[in-house]
Amino acid sequence: TSALHDGVLVLRHFDRLAWWNEAAGKLLSLNPKTDSGQAITNFVRDPKFVAYLENSNFSKPLTLKRSGHEGQWIQFEVTNYGKEERLMVIRDVSKLLQLEQMRKDFVSNVSHELRTPLTVVSGYVENLEMFSDALPEAVTQSLQHISAQVGRMNEMVEDLSLLSRLDESDSLISTAEVDLRQLVESLVAQMELLKRPEHEIIVELCDEVKVLGSQRELYSAFSNIAFNALKYSPTGGEIVVRLRDRGDKVSFSVKDSGIGIDPKHIPRLTERFYRADSARTSVISGTGLGLAITKHVLIRHGGELRIQSWPGKGSKFKCTFPKYDD
Ligand code: ADP
Repeated sequence: TSALHDGVLVLRHFDRLAWWNEAAGKLLSLNPKTDSGQAITNFVRDPKFVAYLENSNFSKPLTLKRSGHEGQWIQFEVTNYGKEERLMVIRDVSKLLQLEQMRKDFVSNVSHELRTPLTVVSGYVENLEMFSDALPEAVTQSLQHISAQVGRMNEMVEDLSLLSRLDESDSLISTAEVDLRQLVESLVAQMELLKRPEHEIIVELCDEVKVLGSQRELYSAFSNIAFNALKYSPTGGEIVVRLRDRGDKVSFSVKDSGIGIDPKHIPRLTERFYRADSARTSVISGTGLGLAITKHVLIRHGGELRIQSWPGKGSKFKCTFPKYDD
């Protein structure tokens, strides 16, 4: 343990320094001769750290700015053991956070920079399409393909911009009461417009039910699931949209009888750009970003997504949220 690259500390009586390795000593500037037995909060004075130790909920690590070291971050992980003992692992996560920030900036810049050339290309394509009567058949067909692909790229850019906005924080900055029944009703109206005659949409909604959050984000999250149900049921079938009031929680689910998903793909569906084989090999178009957006929105609203699927039979996507009672 002494030789570990990560910092390790043993605390007695909840917060008293009993032992630490060299890496921890360096990160927190501890002196083995004078600091043993002192409270760790004398060395990490950030109120967030003090509250973290007091709350005793260590299910998630805590990341803080390293005091006196501009641009550096330390992550703390704590495990309780024995009666009043705690094992603390600390590491310098500055590089990781820097890379994460670079990734976010890159996505945000790329999606921003791609907008202008795409708008120009689609403008030219639209202009040319106006003269389609005068153009040879092969050219008109090529134009249609260009137009479809530009449309796809536009969708991707929109999705990426939305993801990079959501990336800025894991929690909502401003929230409002959102009436989910109303939101789902307008979503279903949209589905009715998009559906094919072979689709049958069954709607089961509870009475008015509210959550705290962003109406726009929730609409995006729900619509990705709802429109996927239509998209991945190419031969039609029943689609059940449900909104349920479950006491202190609310659940929104969409069940389809479409192509389904092989279980091995399910854990990866919310990754960016991930598409299951069935979607890739069939001609169903998509960006692979929809469920990544849904997951992000749910995290920001304290909700969770559950996916069940039966290949060849259909899938069920269910979002559960804390309910808001005024
Ligand atoms: P896409 O733009 O590809 O639809 P999503 O992120 O919305 O991207 O979905 C990721 C993948 O999850 C899809 O490519 C598809 O393989 C699978 N998927 C999502 N919804 C369904 C569904 N209702 N039925 C079958 N497969 C689905």
